[in-house]
Amino acid sequence: MTKAPVNWTNMSLFSLTPAFAITLVPWYGFFYGYDLFEWVVFALLMAFCGMSITAGYHRLWSHKAFKAHPALRLLFAIGGACALQNSVLLWASDHRNHHRFVDDNERDPYSAKRGFWFSHIGWILRDYDSAQTGFANVRDLQKDPIVRWQHDHYLSLSLFMNIGLPALIGYFHGDLIAGLLLSGLLRLVLSQHLTYLINSAAHKWGRQPYSDENTARDNPILALLTYGEGYHNYHHAFQWDYRNGIRWWHYDPTKWMIQICAWIGLTRELKRCTPLEIERARIELQYKSAAEKCELLNISEKWRATLEQEYEEIVNTLQLWSEHRQAWYEAKGRQIQQTLSQWDQLQIRDRYREIQFKLKMRRRRWQELLRNLADPLPASA
Ligand SMILES: [Zn+2]
Ligand SMILES: [Zn+2]
Repeated sequence: MTKAPVNWTNMSLFSLTPAFAITLVPWYGFFYGYDLFEWVVFALLMAFCGMSITAGYHRLWSHKAFKAHPALRLLFAIGGACALQNSVLLWASDHRNHHRFVDDNERDPYSAKRGFWFSHIGWILRDYDSAQTGFANVRDLQKDPIVRWQHDHYLSLSLFMNIGLPALIGYFHGDLIAGLLLSGLLRLVLSQHLTYLINSAAHKWGRQPYSDENTARDNPILALLTYGEGYHNYHHAFQWDYRNGIRWWHYDPTKWMIQICAWIGLTRELKRCTPLEIERARIELQYKSAAEKCELLNISEKWRATLEQEYEEIVNTLQLWSEHRQAWYEAKGRQIQQTLSQWDQLQIRDRYREIQFKLKMRRRRWQELLRNLADPLPASA
């Protein structure tokens, strides 16, 4: 099979920038040093680029997980050009294909099934057919004047952000070269490779709590490096949710930033999946793998029937819990509007708490059952 033709612009850029970064940056640091201000500008520009990609390119434009004020969209467009990951239009088109055809080697532009290197950066270095997408899947984004403006001025914008701005800051601070090396070169190489880890490492290492139908994985360590994008199994299962890390202890600064922007009116219509959908996906997957294990270990029919029954019970209780939760929220609203008596509200609340407790017990039994299965001796007895 003949290899796809090399894209020499990308090949040179992605070979030379890391080569210069790992030689020139330490060399200059050793002989001349970098001061605190230069490191702070480096960190701020890293965050600006990184979050313009995660919040802007990814969650806003590719997935339409929320709506943003034009001022914020403009910032994301400028930060995305600084990250040098193509225009919004090209990035979102590739990314929508990645979700739609995930792991399909012919149609997913960075299919993880073609190997770590390919999904990380290999797909950019050659002109593969799988990346020739056109704009058919981003017609909606072409209506956004900021997206069109960024696409038309991408080259000059990215040159200014990657060379002009770091040089200017460096010049006014008194060391032009240090500015260019830290905030320009090192920041560019690091921010690119950290983003690319989501296409490579987050499709290879980690847990799959929500779906095993594709290679995407939840990996909290990657979340630390990518402003929260490491919960990639969740993201592929619920791609239009503005959150990637859904628990309060999940490190997802992109989610926090979108949320804070909502409080000050810069973002709105934040989409999130319901706890029912999320929990059901998790339990379905647990049931599926438990049933497969029963088959494999030839576990007794009686035990399998228990698994089946507990699964149905927990799904039904979950459904009931969701309905009562909804009723409780509605009751709280009506209480505020004074269209519901205190007595009725208390009844709805107590019923909801009852179901909540029932669900807690069901969950315990379900976990116990799964634990038993992990230890096949008592389970198969
Ligand atoms: Zn992915
Ligand atoms: Zn995505």
